[in-house]
Amino acid sequence: MAEKFDLIVIGGGPGGYVAAIRAAQLGFKTACVDMFTGKDGKPAPGGTCLNVGCIPSKALLDSSKHYHHLQHDYGAHGISMKDTAIDVATMIARKDGIVKKLTGGVTQLFKGNKIAYYHGKGRLMAGRQVQVTLSDGGEIQQLEADNVILASGSVPIQIPNVEFDGKYIVDNVGALDFDSVPATLGVIGAGVIGLELGSVWNRLGSEVTLLEALPDFLPIADRDVSKQAAREFKKQGLDIRLGTLVKSAAVKKNKVIVNLEDKNGESQLTFDRLLVCVGRKAYTEGLLDEDSGVQLTANGQIQVDDQSRTTAPGVWAIGDCVRGPMLAHKASEEGIAVAELIAGKPAHIHFDTVPWVVYTEPEIAWVGKTEQELKDAGVDYKTGSFPFAANGRALAGGNPAGLVKMLADAETDEILGVHILGANASELISECVVAMEFQGSSEDLARIVHAHPTLSEAVHEAALHVDKRAIHRGN
Ligand code: FAD
Ligand code: AMP
Repeated sequence: MAEKFDLIVIGGGPGGYVAAIRAAQLGFKTACVDMFTGKDGKPAPGGTCLNVGCIPSKALLDSSKHYHHLQHDYGAHGISMKDTAIDVATMIARKDGIVKKLTGGVTQLFKGNKIAYYHGKGRLMAGRQVQVTLSDGGEIQQLEADNVILASGSVPIQIPNVEFDGKYIVDNVGALDFDSVPATLGVIGAGVIGLELGSVWNRLGSEVTLLEALPDFLPIADRDVSKQAAREFKKQGLDIRLGTLVKSAAVKKNKVIVNLEDKNGESQLTFDRLLVCVGRKAYTEGLLDEDSGVQLTANGQIQVDDQSRTTAPGVWAIGDCVRGPMLAHKASEEGIAVAELIAGKPAHIHFDTVPWVVYTEPEIAWVGKTEQELKDAGVDYKTGSFPFAANGRALAGGNPAGLVKMLADAETDEILGVHILGANASELISECVVAMEFQGSSEDLARIVHAHPTLSEAVHEAALHVDKRAIHRGN
């Protein structure tokens, strides 16, 4: 006999566990099936984000930032220190401790919300039956529900002729667990993950080379921001090679030989380690029985409508396994929206106001359209910008790099996009997201009082500059 639930969520990442909690709050008898096992061999709900993504990468970015500042920046404050060293094992253990705390927190939240948590692999059968193969012992359990949410996430894309071996040629999981600082590190793909993980090891002393097939750097960001960011990253020692297509890689005598092609033809580079970050793809292996009624798109994502309904009645899908940006907060908001839709409440997500962040130094954050996108769409817009070099708090904190750039409709003044390169850009962008969510104008932000001295004054000045009345820069 199958155990009956109102809702079963397959996948316990930021999409799935958040959906399960919201559903339980709404009074549904809820189960969450997740197969992730932590480094200690114990169940670890939280998905890619908590285990091998957002959180551990930020922990290492933070550790490496301290080390880098100690070596390069504290002298200016009159602080000197002899014999600085990095103990990689301690740094990794700190990261593992944070991950454990957070995945343990999700387990507690499941208990607190009376969510039945199954540690195992779920498979959706016909009629919203879910077969769970428990990780501990392989026993099979049958569940069924009125509604099922699929939140199975994503896995790294593998390129032909570059096989992961978990030691020399690695994905994000391997690069979050190196046991020493590689003298040289090759990174295939100068996207968000490649830049973040490349920065970690670069700050700790690796010679890092990013090999990027595209001719432009970070084309997903606004061009003014990506151009300045490329200059900053170069200063930090990141060797970013654009227009460089990796064709194959092989391990020989403890080194990785990479074959590539660029404008000068074919050549080889040798690294101690190679990190492959060429994007991620939806993960649906073993998830769907042939009778489940759920269809996939041509690129392997679960097909959904605007409100996350799949092609099978009562079956929904959210997060990295469906269309849209592969971001944890997008997954979570979809999870909340679906739980509310199931409860008969109105729910919607404004995909246009989902913020993006790259946690490099300086950070990059944006919301809305880039200037290129507005140009391509033939929108009449005006721009305002403000450099952090003219912001008192940025200078006091030793963070003069970067800018805030704001794009507003030429006629209505509605904010269409904000792009920030600078310290704490990840936090500063929230104000802009709120403004855009309320269809605010640059005038609205210009009229709001911003505390002094803060980095947020640069957002204020950029808003003023849209109307060419910034105070601390020429207009
Ligand atoms: P996931 O987090 O991938 O969770 C899916 C879960 O489902 C996993 O636990 C998986 O094991 C489980 N699962 C899959 N199939 C089954 C099955 N059949 N049965 C049971 N369980 C199953 N995003 C940000 O917004 N900010 C960041 O700073 C950020 N940094 C990142 C850094 C790195 C290195 C990486 C790799 C990703 C980062 N991301 C970041 C992306 C973010 O991790 C994902 O967008 C997010 O985790 C997606 O959430 P999800 O719930 O859809 O899937
Ligand atoms: P993202 O999608 O942000 O994770 O970035 C992945 C990056 O990897 C993209 O910018 C791709 O252009 C790049 N990429 C994909 N395949 C290759 C390859 N074979 N060689 C070099 N770069 C690649």
